[in-house]
Amino acid sequence: MAVFRLSPLRVRVFNTCHLRYRYQYVDKLQARLRPADTAGSLVHNVLCDFFGKLPRDERDSERLIAMFEERWAALSPRYLRMTGVDELHDRNLSALQEFAQREDLGAEPFQVEAYVQVQIAPEVTLFGRMDRIDEEPDGTLHIIDYKTGSHPGDVDASQLQLYAIMVESKLERTVSRASFWYLDGGSVWTTELRPADKEQTLARALAAAKDMQREREYEPTIAPHCADCPFLYTCAVRDEIAQRRQAEGW
Ligand code: SF4
Repeated sequence: MAVFRLSPLRVRVFNTCHLRYRYQYVDKLQARLRPADTAGSLVHNVLCDFFGKLPRDERDSERLIAMFEERWAALSPRYLRMTGVDELHDRNLSALQEFAQREDLGAEPFQVEAYVQVQIAPEVTLFGRMDRIDEEPDGTLHIIDYKTGSHPGDVDASQLQLYAIMVESKLERTVSRASFWYLDGGSVWTTELRPADKEQTLARALAAAKDMQREREYEPTIAPHCADCPFLYTCAVRDEIAQRRQAEGW
């Protein structure tokens, strides 16, 4: 039997909407990214290169902002002309300026953009890429995931729990903390990593992997998340979504 490749994103997509899962992982349709997604990827890349490639004595706020501006200027002219892109530039620039004031730019992360893959069941591989892993003073590890945008009301800890499971299994090191760093606003959300929570998250991910392989119907889940779905442009229930958006105001 072929190995099933699972990632925290794949689990999240499946749990959000089975129809989106089909578009993304079965039909492999082209995702239509929003301008904010492009800006968010750029900021992630800037931070990863800043901490991963620059020697400590070359890291300061001017260099961080220069890296952002250079990469922004290299985006396609078509993108740069899109409505709302200037605001995205300003918002991400000020998020990075605040980051530079708030955070230790001389920090030496244990790993940056760490790709990890582990076998979690005889036919299931779990993989993912973490923005950053820091080493705590007591030798344990702290997984950090940058989030462009502000702190949402509701946070799903399963992505961080799965990252912790992968890192502990691969590196045989204890992960004591895992956090989302929200760049817009500077808030931090840290999850507890109790063994019972990790076991539960792993069991749920394995159950989801089974459901993914058995799924045939791919029912849509219409909800406010549709507004940000990269497959809304081609979604089979687009008309119904439009009606619900108008009626419910999202
Ligand atoms: S637009 Fe909504 S219903 Fe359609 S695929 Fe995306 S999340 Fe699912």
